Amino acid sequence: MECKNCGAEVGIEYRLCPYCRTEIEHTNNTQANNSQPVIVVQNVLNNQNADPNAFNNSFDPLAALSSPKSKTVALMLSIFLGYLGIHRFYVGKVGSAILYFLTAGLFCFGWIYDIIKIASGTFSDGRGLTLTK
Ligand SMILES: [Zn+2]
Repeated sequence: MECKNCGAEVGIEYRLCPYCRTEIEHTNNTQANNSQPVIVVQNVLNNQNADPNAFNNSFDPLAALSSPKSKTVALMLSIFLGYLGIHRFYVGKVGSAILYFLTAGLFCFGWIYDIIKIASGTFSDGRGLTLTK
């Protein structure tokens, strides 16, 4: 910023020139600073409209969010050993796995609940990632 009255270099945070006390006009500078990001966003949107498949092909967010643990293995473990919490050990939910181990799968209620959750593809692992495969 430059003071129009005395020509001194003034920081953008000043509303008055510290040398001559003239009010500094910020309007031109703030407009220039704000307009640039808007143009960038508009360009991104225009590019997506031009090629809608470009974004979908490069990255699948659902694949990145699913657990690396096998849904089939977890289902088998939950059906045969679920009352011992083995399927919860398998997906890394160690705390609740120990609880299941000590209480026979929360007195079988948690065991049955987990089988339904795993079979319907809504069971998540120790990091909160859904078992989909
Ligand atoms: Zn000045």
